[in-house]
Parts: sequence; structure tokens; C-alpha cells
Amino acid sequence: WVAASLTKQHHPSSRFSGDSAAPWTPHFDVVVIGGGHAGTEAAAAAARCGSRTLLLTHRVDTIGQMSCNPSFGGIGKGHLMREVDALDGLCSRICDQSGVHYKVLNRRKGPAVWGLRAQIDRKLYKQNMQKEILNTPLLTVQEGAVEDLILTEPEPEHTGKYRVSGVVLVDGSTVYAESVVLTTGTFLRGMIVIGLEMHPAGRLGDQPSIGLAQTLEKLGFVVGRLKTGTPPRIAKESINFSILNKQTPDNPSIPFSFINETVWIKPEDQLPCYLTHTNPQVDEIVLENLHLNCHVKETTKGPRYCPSIESKVLRFPNRLHQVWLEPEGLDSDLIYPQGLSVTLPAELQEKMITCIRGLEKAKMIQPGYGVQYDYLDPRQITPSLETHLVQRLFFAGQINGTTGYEEAAAQGVIAGINASLRVRHKPPFVISRTEGYIGVLIDDLTTLGTNEPYRMFTSRAEFRLSLRPDNADSRLTFRGYKEAGCVSQQRYERAIWMKSSLEEGISVLKSIEFPSSKWKNLIPEASISIGKSLPLRALDVLKYEEVDIELLAKAVPEPLRKYTKCRELAERLKIEASIGIAMAFLLQRFQLLGLTWWRSG
Ligand code: FAD
Repeated sequence: WVAASLTKQHHPSSRFSGDSAAPWTPHFDVVVIGGGHAGTEAAAAAARCGSRTLLLTHRVDTIGQMSCNPSFGGIGKGHLMREVDALDGLCSRICDQSGVHYKVLNRRKGPAVWGLRAQIDRKLYKQNMQKEILNTPLLTVQEGAVEDLILTEPEPEHTGKYRVSGVVLVDGSTVYAESVVLTTGTFLRGMIVIGLEMHPAGRLGDQPSIGLAQTLEKLGFVVGRLKTGTPPRIAKESINFSILNKQTPDNPSIPFSFINETVWIKPEDQLPCYLTHTNPQVDEIVLENLHLNCHVKETTKGPRYCPSIESKVLRFPNRLHQVWLEPEGLDSDLIYPQGLSVTLPAELQEKMITCIRGLEKAKMIQPGYGVQYDYLDPRQITPSLETHLVQRLFFAGQINGTTGYEEAAAQGVIAGINASLRVRHKPPFVISRTEGYIGVLIDDLTTLGTNEPYRMFTSRAEFRLSLRPDNADSRLTFRGYKEAGCVSQQRYERAIWMKSSLEEGISVLKSIEFPSSKWKNLIPEASISIGKSLPLRALDVLKYEEVDIELLAKAVPEPLRKYTKCRELAERLKIEASIGIAMAFLLQRFQLLGLTWWRSG
């Protein structure tokens, strides 16, 4: 009976094999609302955990849409992606199939704060994500707008005033579910803004969700208002790149996913980015036209760490601000000017752009715009992302006050896992602050709440020396496999192999010991400066900045040669050796501090 009122359904035929009399059922274990970065991860995670899952979203062709910047990762955000990947999530693998410029940020600092980042081809990302989602076993995808929730009596053994048992679509049809995950992004009472014009929209070209926002408010959820914005898009052929600073990608490219040795595209075929800057003329246009810019005047808070050009000019006057010109894709004619998010009227945006070096003849294809939207105070959810008020209702993504694809994806995977565990009456899957950046993110949100768009930074993590991008699998894959069932056998076995190879590698490196004079002869590149006859282990030699496994294996081919075969293993052995130094240094500092305290005490 629900099937008659559904618009479009996509489901893997394998799911219904042998069940030809009942090809469709309106009752699912988990229903996920929204096909953005949180929703795709939540739906795929619930299905991987074995739950019959429905992803309900406005349009199938916008699944995986990158609403703003054509890039993934960065400092802190790259850590979240590695953790999502360690739980067998999608975004890292899809980025490895869709990136056009891979670069590790912060390379000069320690591995704990390296930020994996890539420019992504928007079109390819969406295509690859849709292919993945539409071919996930146990996952059905359906177009539709959810307006309301179906509520029943709460389960007495749990806290909560109501229990959710399904959703109502805009056409009045219903779908029943054991758990529901809401990932509606910027769509709740979304309003887009350019200049003095405002109109209802979730993002450019998409309807807002008004009914659902009203439902949540009526239920008693505390709702707040936030804003964000996006820059104009510029025609590539109208930019004079020849006078700008060029940034080339890394060679080799470091993949986001633990299960990939390489990315889909060679470094030499990747696209460059270019750097330019704003100037006093830009400031002048912004300041002279504040009266034409209602997004700036609003008291609603925007992202502090990804601010609009108006906020930057107001907060830091007389400064030149960076504008990165980033490719939107391999065959795209558009350039994304990162750092130039703006909500001035369109004609003034064009005037402002053409003041900037290299953009003197730039043609604006789409103006920048702002969006204001409702979010729900995240202190209303538990660390498993279930709401306190409504049992079996989970929130993930921008709806919880965060900003960014990675923050959304990280919450999505946790909400999907827990929605599924809840159906199976299993204990929740919670990541602590000591185990991962995902734990830091969720703990910050659920205990402190937020009154501005929340984004991840390495400085938010107290245990960042151990929560590194390289070791996310050893922190989370085993738990994901055993406790949640969201990790594939293949990934689990790869994590076991990596763990045992690392342990074996470290003990082999510890077992090779020569006097330092011999090491100096074998590896003249290393600046070994300790006494000639002092014994030194290969593990200690690997700690020198200029030494890697490749160099060590040239000096001592047997038994070290085998550790050069896998790039990731070689890099991780080097990191384990170097972090050893940092850990020892910290321990020494702590001991000294302890000693001072004890003495003074
Ligand atoms: P989204 O990716 O927005 O996905 C929400 C999904 O829910 C959509 O598919 C929508 O169709 C669906 N949906 C909504 N309501 C319903 C309903 N009732 N029924 C069915 N389906 C529904 N992030 C940054 O880090 N930096 C930025 O500068 C930045 N700028 C942004 C500028 C704009 C204009 C926008 C729109 C977003 C910006 N973001 C920025 C945020 C980034 O896009 C989001 O953080 C991220 O996409 C959030 O993911 P999500 O899954 O929570 O929501």
C-alpha cells in the first residue's frame, strides 16, 4: 500500500531474490532521511551492520552532492576521514576514486597533525557515491520529502518521552521503521540569501524542509539558527593563471583509504591550484555596500574558521586575504575561489572579483550566496547520537550544528551503526575521546553544545599524539568488526595483517644492532652523532629524519627488504619509530614535572 504512493524506488534486486510475491515492504529496520554526507554514511553503515535500510531523500541525482568546496580532508578533517574509513565508511574510498589533486598538509610538522586533503571532481564524486549507494546490499533508496514522524509509546526500560516508529512523506504516505536517522543538513527552514534578497531553499535549487522543522519544534526539541555561505564560481578560461603562484600536487599521492595503495589518477595527470590575494579595493567594495548585504547584518552565527570575505574584512581590516583558485573537476570549466564566500548582490560580486590579481577579466558563472537554517541543540542527543526525547530517533550531520562534509560523514557512520544496533537490542557503539577524533567531536557536541558551526581541529584532541591518521585502523577497525559488524572481512583481515607486520617489523628493527661507526659507514646520509663504539639499533637509526626504511634496507637488505614492498607499512614503521622519540620526550617531561612537584611538595 505504500508502494502505490512512492515516487521512485531503487533497490538491489538481490535483496528480494526468491521473494517475488512481495517485492516491496514499507517496514524497514532503519530509515535514513537525507542523502548528503551524513545520510549516505548512515544508510550504508546500517546496511553493512545487517539492517534492512531505506534511504529517503529529496532527489537521487543529488546523493553525494558537495554543496560548497570541491575538496575533502585537511587538518583534523583528514583524521575524521581515516576514522570513517577504519569503520569501512564510504567517503575515503570515493575520494580515492574521484580526487584531482592530492596533498598532505602540515608535512613539515609531526605525523600526528598531518592533514590528508584532496581537490575532488564534484561530478565524479557524486557518480561514484551514487553507484556505491545504489549497489549496497540491504539498502533501498527512494525519492521523497519527509514531513512528519510517526510516534508510539516509549519502551519503559529506556528514557525518552516518545518512541519513533516511522515517517510520513509530503504526499501523506507512510514508511514504518524500527529506527530513524535524520540527516537533513541545511534544509530545516533553509533560507538562501544574496544581497537583500532572501528566499526559502535548502541550498541553491533545492526546496527547504519546513514541515519537518515544525514537527521537531512541536515535539519540544530546542532549535537554534546558524548560517554559512559559498563563493561565486568563475569561468576557468577567463582567469590569467600565468601571473599567479602555482601549487602542484604531491608525488606520490597518499590515498585516504587504508585499503588503497594508490589513488585512481597519476600525480602527473592531476590538476594544479593557484594562489592569489584580496586587496584594499576588495575591502572598499565590501565596506561601502554593507547596507545591501542582509546576511552580514544578521545576528545568526556563521562558520568562524571558514568565514565570508565580509566577516574577514570587518574583523581584520587592511589585510590581504588568500584566495585559492581550485579546480571543480577534470572536465569542468569552473574554478572555485576558496576564501571568497560572499553574499553581496551579484553585480557587486563580479565587480569585486575583477579587482583581484589574475581575475581582472574573470567571468562569474554563478554568484556566491548564503544560507541560514535551523539546527538542533546537540546536547539533546546521547553519545550514540540517539535523541534523549524520542527513543530510536538519531540525528547526524549539519542538523547537529556542525559544518563540513567530514564532520557530517563521521556522525553519519556512528548514527547508522547505532540505529542498527538499537534494532538488534545490542549495546551502543560509542567512541571515546581517547580513541578517536570522532569521539572528540561527539563528546564536544553532546556535552558542550555549540552556538556556531562546529568544525574539527587537531587542537580539540587532548590525545593527538596517539590519535594519528596513520593508526586509525588499529584504533577502530577491530571494534567496528567485533562490536558493530560494520567492517568487511577483507578490511578486517587487512588490519590484522598490518598490525602483525608492524609488530614483527618493530621487533626485527630492534634486533639489528651495530656500533654507531658502522651505521655511519652504511648510511652516510644519516647525521648520527653519538660516540663511535656505542651500539645502535636499526629502530633508533630509523628515527633520524633523513632515514627511511628504503635507506635502511639498502644498508641491511636482509631481513629488511620485505618491509619496503608496501608503502603504507614502510611509512608506518617510520612513524612508529619517530613517535617513540616524542613519547619518550613527553614521558621524560612528565617525570621531571612529577619530580619537581614531589620535591616542592
Ligand atoms: P547535506 O549534505 O546538506 O544533505 C542533506 C540531505 O538531506 C540532502 O540530500 C537533502 O535533499 C536531504 N533532505 C533534507 N530534508 C529532507 C526531507 N525532509 N526529506 C528528505 N530528504 C531531505 N561546509 C564547510 O565545511 N565549509 C563551508 O564553507 C561550507 N559552506 C556551505 C555553503 C552552503 C551554501 C551550504 C549549503 C553548505 C556549506 N557547507 C560548508 C556545509 C556542508 O555542505 C555540510 O556541512 C555538509 O554537506 C553537511 O552534510 P549533511 O549530510 O549533514 O547535509
